[in-house]
Amino acid sequence: MWDLDPKVLEKWDKEYFWHPFTQMKVYQEEENLIFERGEGVYLWDIYGKKYIDAISSLWCNVHGHNHPKLNSAIMKQLCKVAHTTTLGSSNVPAILLAKKLVEIAPDGLTKIFYSEDGAEAVEIAIKMAYHYWRNKGIEGKNVFITLSEAYHGDTVGAVSVGGIELFHGTYRDLLFKTIKLPSPYLYCKDVHGNLSSECTADLLMKLEEILKSRDDIVAIVLESGIQAAAGMLPFPKGFLKGVRELTKKYGVLMIVDEVATGFGRTGTMFYCEQEGVTPDFMCLGKGITGGYLPLAATLTTDKVFEAFLGEFGEAKHFYHGHTYTGNNLACSVALANLEIFEEEKTLEKLQPKIKLLSQRLEEFWELKHVGDVRQLGFMAGIELVKDKGKKEPFPYGERTGFKVAYKCREKGVFLRPLGDVMVLMMPLVIEEEEINYVIDTLKWAITELEKEV
Ligand code: PMP
Repeated sequence: MWDLDPKVLEKWDKEYFWHPFTQMKVYQEEENLIFERGEGVYLWDIYGKKYIDAISSLWCNVHGHNHPKLNSAIMKQLCKVAHTTTLGSSNVPAILLAKKLVEIAPDGLTKIFYSEDGAEAVEIAIKMAYHYWRNKGIEGKNVFITLSEAYHGDTVGAVSVGGIELFHGTYRDLLFKTIKLPSPYLYCKDVHGNLSSECTADLLMKLEEILKSRDDIVAIVLESGIQAAAGMLPFPKGFLKGVRELTKKYGVLMIVDEVATGFGRTGTMFYCEQEGVTPDFMCLGKGITGGYLPLAATLTTDKVFEAFLGEFGEAKHFYHGHTYTGNNLACSVALANLEIFEEEKTLEKLQPKIKLLSQRLEEFWELKHVGDVRQLGFMAGIELVKDKGKKEPFPYGERTGFKVAYKCREKGVFLRPLGDVMVLMMPLVIEEEEINYVIDTLKWAITELEKEV
């Protein structure tokens, strides 16, 4: 389509395009990947070199790139209409998708509010929860409980409920205040790397003390089962369920962010299922369209929905919406994405892959520069350290994680680390042989590091 000299593209990329989460000075000095096409779990760059997409294009690709069924869903819808507003009117795929999401979500989540990205899904949950109490006539509920090391996206509301100092610290004065509980993994991990149940109970007690002593809490906001962006920090089993029990006991709302974990990543469609939890709000994004188009959703209950009902003049409605809310193309491809889960038995076929991943992850413990290995379902993080005994990290400016990721590119594996945590978030459709190739390559790249340090 655009038959351009790769060198010209590289020049224009550096000249015009400001990339997200990227130090552009470094980017401009380095050689970067420019992708041109994809097929299944593979991507090709503008020079024709092939890579396994081992991070699912930032955790969203599910069934592979260029999937015929997903392509055709978009093309069929495109021949009808690409976009129509949902502010006070509707469209066919958005209705069908809302019904389908309610069917597969934890029981009790019956209403769908669309947006475009994970951060917005969280932003909407925060505003709805806050607004809920006002519509109920209850004043003074102004405070959210959040977790240290949380990540919910980059809009100002989502940053306010986040807890990663490096990303969020700069904006401190701009953010609304929250009460922070410690990160469950960092709080509960013992010296052997196990998450003790006593400690989980202790953390829940801390939460209970807050809930007991205050009547200004709007909601608790937390990720589901794992703090992914913090470097894949799993929750102890039972933590999410414990939080649900306490929020019910003290009449506080619970917002669960399944943006990263939803759509199979933890081995079930949503992690909430594994703990039998129905939150008041569940936020979805990323994998909802199989990694094709920006779409997100905030799911909530009849109880919340009904608090927004009233006569027009009462002005109780949710004054929030975006131009592309419930976009026709995005909803069509999301529906096809869910159909593929059923037709291709994606979750059934995923189980042996999760086992294989667990077995192969064990091998990383032997490596000189690996300080921790963490996994939840098909999500994994391998933490690199300078000194294993002392758990001493590499200096931030050395970009060790990136160096390892760049090494992997030599052998055709595309990774993006979180700091010095090597993240594996492979498309669910990846084959066992390809998983082994990714693991072998990553092990090799980490071992190569030993020669440099
Ligand atoms: N919540 C979680 C748990 C996430 O991991 C992310 C993104 N990594 C987001 C929200 C933000 O999603 P988006 O980038 O689509 O805004």
